[in-house]
Amino acid sequence: MEPVKSEVIAIANPKGGCGKTTTAVNLATCISALKRKVLLIDLDSQASATIGLGIKPYLCRFSVAEVLLNSAGKAGEAVYSTKVKNLSIIPAKSSLADVETELRKQEGGGLVLKSRLNQILSAYDYIFIDTSPSLGALTLNALTIAQRVIIPVQTQFYALRGLGQLLNMVNIVKARVNPNLCRIRILATMYDPRTRLSQNILSELRKRFEKELFKTIIPISTRLAEAPGYGLPAPLYDSHCSGTIAYRKLAREVIANEKM
Ligand code: ATP
Ligand code: MG
Repeated sequence: MEPVKSEVIAIANPKGGCGKTTTAVNLATCISALKRKVLLIDLDSQASATIGLGIKPYLCRFSVAEVLLNSAGKAGEAVYSTKVKNLSIIPAKSSLADVETELRKQEGGGLVLKSRLNQILSAYDYIFIDTSPSLGALTLNALTIAQRVIIPVQTQFYALRGLGQLLNMVNIVKARVNPNLCRIRILATMYDPRTRLSQNILSELRKRFEKELFKTIIPISTRLAEAPGYGLPAPLYDSHCSGTIAYRKLAREVIANEKM
C-alpha cells in the first residue's frame, strides 16, 4: 500500500508515566520497519525518547530547542539518524524547559514549531511527536501541527485523570488554529490481564471510547521497560517479547488507517 505523505501524530496525555515515550519510540520503530520514512520529534525536556534511542542529548549540537529558537540554521541540521533504519530524530535537551517559558510569553507561541518545520515535514511519511506530561506551550505546539493524537492510557489507577483537559485542549486547537486535527485515538497501555483493575479500566475505555480505542492493547512487559536502559527500542532489544509484538500490531493498525 502506498503511504500517504507526511502525517503528523502527536502522542499526548498530561498524566505522567502512562506510556507516551514508550509508544513514541516503539511505534515509530515498528512503522519504520514497514518501509515508511519516520521522524520522531522529542518535545519533552526530560529527553527520554532521545535517550531511549541511544542518543546522548549533550552530544547533540542542535536539538528541538534550537529549532524552536530558530538558532539551528536550517531545521534539518537538528535531524539525526538513529540505529533504526528509516528512523530519524530531532532530539531534546534539558534547555527545552527554558524555551517553553519563552514560548509562553510570545504572541503566536503555539505556532512556532509549525513554521520552523514546514520545510522538512514532507520528506517523511510519519512524524511522531513525544510530548511532556503537561498541557503547556510545547504540547500546544505539537497539537497545532498534528493531524492525529494518540493518547496512551495506562490501565491502572487514575487512568482517566487529566484526559478531559486534554480533550478540551484538542477541541480548542482544532477550532482556532488547526482544523486538520481530526482524529483522536486512545491506546490502552500496561495492560495486566491478571488484575481486575486492568480489566475494569479496559472495559470502561471500550464503553467510553468505542470508536477511538485501538484494537491493539499494549501489555505490561518488563522488556519494554528494560530496553531504554540499553539505548534501544524494544524491537532491537528483544524482537519477540510481548511488548514488541504488540507495537508491531499497533503499527499495522496505524498504517491501515492511512486511507481513512
Ligand atoms: P512521562 O509522562 O514522564 O513522559 P510517559 O508517559 O512518557 O512518562 P513512559 O516513560 O513511556 O511514560 O513509561 C513510564 C514507565 O513505565 C517507564 O519506566 C517505562 O519503561 C514503563 N513502561 C511503559 N510502558 C510499559 C509497559 N507496557 N510495560 C511495562 N513497563 C512500561
Ligand atoms: Mg515521556
